Amino acid sequence: MVGVKAIGWTFSPREWERWVEEKRESLYRARQIWHWIWKKGVYNPAQMSDVPLSIRTALDSEVFFPMLELVRSQESRDGTRKFLWALPEGGKVETVWIPHQNRYTVCISSQVGCSLNCRFCATGQLGLERQLKGYEILLQVYAVKHLLGLPITNVVFMGMGEPLLNYSAVIEAVEGLTQRMGFSGKRLTISTVGIPKAIQRLAERSEPFELAFSLHSAIPEKRRALIPLAAHISLEELQTALGLYCEKRNEWITLEYVLLEDINDQEADAEALREFIKPPLRAKVNLIEYNPVPELPFRGSRRIKDFQQALLKRRIITTIRRSRGADIAAACGQLSRRF
Ligand code: SAH
Repeated sequence: MVGVKAIGWTFSPREWERWVEEKRESLYRARQIWHWIWKKGVYNPAQMSDVPLSIRTALDSEVFFPMLELVRSQESRDGTRKFLWALPEGGKVETVWIPHQNRYTVCISSQVGCSLNCRFCATGQLGLERQLKGYEILLQVYAVKHLLGLPITNVVFMGMGEPLLNYSAVIEAVEGLTQRMGFSGKRLTISTVGIPKAIQRLAERSEPFELAFSLHSAIPEKRRALIPLAAHISLEELQTALGLYCEKRNEWITLEYVLLEDINDQEADAEALREFIKPPLRAKVNLIEYNPVPELPFRGSRRIKDFQQALLKRRIITTIRRSRGADIAAACGQLSRRF
């Protein structure tokens, strides 16, 4: 239960100063508290050993640090780990930790469930339960790092939910990751189904982060058959919004493309992709191996290498995202809280 106490995770440095001032304590106590919470991963006042008892007592009675509760975890043969958390404000989400050589990626959720119902995605089958608060998104990274002690180099908003349909909480989490936890924006990726208005707002922001757009087909009818939301948002609108984004931020984006057998893996699909990527839109393509979902009729394409060649031939930078953690249903699009 979140009671009348203030939630400590949401305090900015200024707010900690004000809080300390109220207690008539020196301002540097605010920095000490901050350091304990965000640098050392200690949020229990009793353990803040260089903070005077009076302040620790005040912290105890006025501020509250709700934490995620680990309900279950599972480890894949490839080292990928999946965690199911109970959230402070209700509901459960999954977070995935993916080690690969010297890169450790955490894949976080932004919503409990998802409203989009993309035909090939397991999370889509759940429907939307609720939005995560900004601090609940951030705590997924905090808990993996400080509670479980796992190394993290990259964070991707590719777990459950559509980040841009929970815009302000996601921005709050991005700020927390960069300004509190010290992650470089180059190592944070927001992945979206494509909401033009939200992309325009992102384009105006000054802080660094990377953007990935789930295209999956540049042929309108095909995209509509995979992504119900595409019936309301045209590819031209998205192309324009993304082009403006690249221009304003002077960046490239990534196009995510799940390769599905007999659906989007032919020459005509590669040609449509080439036509989609035109200036000012600057994009590389990340081909994603399809991760099977038991109830769904899709199969991964066996033409992944050929399709990559078809794109490279068209001078499109193309990488392949190999499936990780599929044996424990921890891979992209498999998160449906089954363990
Ligand atoms: N809502 C965001 C984040 C979703 S998950 C978005 O749409 O981008 C991240 C990526 O995994 C998306 O590109 C999504 O389309 C893809 N994905 C969904 N189900 C998948 C599956 N079964 N196999 C592989 N990728 C999948």
